[in-house]
Amino acid sequence: MKLVTFIHQDQERIGALDNTGRIVDLERAYAGHLREAEGIPHADQLAAVVLGCDMCEFLQRGEKSLAAAQKALTYADTKPNHGNDGMILDRQRVRLMAPVPRPGALVSAGKNFSDHVAEMASKKGPAAPVAFLKLPGTVIGPEDDIPHPLEVKNLDYEVELAIVIGKPCVDVSEEEALDYVAGYAAFNDISARDVIRSENKTGIHLMGKSFPGFAPMGPYLVTADEIPDPQSLKLKLSVNGEVRQDSKLGYMIFDIRAMIAYWSQMGLNPGDVLTSGTPRGVAAGRKPDQVPWWLKPGDVVEAEVEKVGYLRNRIVSE
Ligand code: MG
Repeated sequence: MKLVTFIHQDQERIGALDNTGRIVDLERAYAGHLREAEGIPHADQLAAVVLGCDMCEFLQRGEKSLAAAQKALTYADTKPNHGNDGMILDRQRVRLMAPVPRPGALVSAGKNFSDHVAEMASKKGPAAPVAFLKLPGTVIGPEDDIPHPLEVKNLDYEVELAIVIGKPCVDVSEEEALDYVAGYAAFNDISARDVIRSENKTGIHLMGKSFPGFAPMGPYLVTADEIPDPQSLKLKLSVNGEVRQDSKLGYMIFDIRAMIAYWSQMGLNPGDVLTSGTPRGVAAGRKPDQVPWWLKPGDVVEAEVEKVGYLRNRIVSE
């Protein structure tokens, strides 16, 4: 299933794509199912309770909300001639937000691709997983603009896979780690390299990864059952149509299972997001004699994860 969070008539809604790519409003469709197929009174209220008010609540409800979403999709499938009830919407009529617009935690891997570690002139990769926190509030949708902070000189991009946790997850083994994944999304870890460089002098970086809009995510949350082998996926990023990053998750130093097992020591919860780290091709990896690749207002950045989807964000002046 491809789950989305979207804005329709100024309301944030949860949806899923039907098999023609239209968006089914899950609460409206599930209420229709409850009313017509199960004869339940107060179907609207029950649908809202079962599905939750946003994607984090939806994920917290686990199998129950997923089963309800499946019934909602089946019900919507029987109503091909939709009216104006807002149950089935063309993708063009809505604005997609990030599928998880407000993750509980956003744990972002660093130095986690062998080809990226090499381009950043590090001698070797880390001995244990490395990560930093991005502020959850920096998450934006798959087509939203990214403001270029006035004070930043070296704005960079990093295509990554976002791994969305679906169950409370503490001290899990690598073997069982993928059982805790709700699904996957494409992610762009926008980075202010000059800010990070100065922050690193004091030992930790935060703001350089968390200016407003520094975390485009989406377009969907592709449920884990559709991606049985996430480690085989390819990643690609282009700026103004020119390919900058073209790699695969197979180059991860600590793979998805290892990352989940390691970070589950601090406890992860439904709606928390881990990101994979990025492969080679970032602007920071350019040599002094090469044309700089820093992002500037007007640039269009497209970040794609195979089978998961793609983001298209324009850099705009702050
Ligand atoms: Mg990154």
